[in-house]
Amino acid sequence: MPREISAGGMVVRPGPAGWELAVIEPQREQSGNADSGKKDGKTVLALPKGLLDPGETPEQTAVREVREETGITARVLTKLKDIQYVYVRSWGDRQRVFKIVTFYLLRYESGTIDELAPSMRIEVKRALWIPLGEARRRLTYRGEREIIGLAEDYLAAHSTEAR
Ligand code: ATP
Repeated sequence: MPREISAGGMVVRPGPAGWELAVIEPQREQSGNADSGKKDGKTVLALPKGLLDPGETPEQTAVREVREETGITARVLTKLKDIQYVYVRSWGDRQRVFKIVTFYLLRYESGTIDELAPSMRIEVKRALWIPLGEARRRLTYRGEREIIGLAEDYLAAHSTEAR
């Protein structure tokens, strides 16, 4: 089975009512994954991520993909977890692909969410801030929902430096 290695991030910032999380609504048809967490009729919400470029560290990929897919600049606070899933390519020979995504926790630094380069609209319908407390209910994929607790634990233990 072919493998794909990606990296991505949970980007947080302090808001008036607590931590906020940057998420994206992917543009393209999201069908064909073997472990579907998609709730029918509901908007797909996911974390920004993407494939490692040659020579790039996973941290660099996470920062780059966050910038490209959300429009914001963020710095890595800590690694959260590697998640894995299998999906079926919707094009060509419909091959099953084994995917590993390393997720990091990042702190927002600058930029306006959803101010994207026009070329990124092919991949991202919109990027938005949601309350971190709503992420468990609103994120589509189980693997992404399962790292929320790790981020919350880190933020509780490092509240002064993260803010
Ligand atoms: P990347 O974002 O790494 O550049 P991509 O956009 O080509 O890659 P994915 O986002 O992995 O690929 O999407 C491929 C398929 O996997 C889609 O059908 C999508 O619905 C599904 N998928 C995406 N994330 C997850 C996940 N965390 N768990 C299960 N299935 C997922």
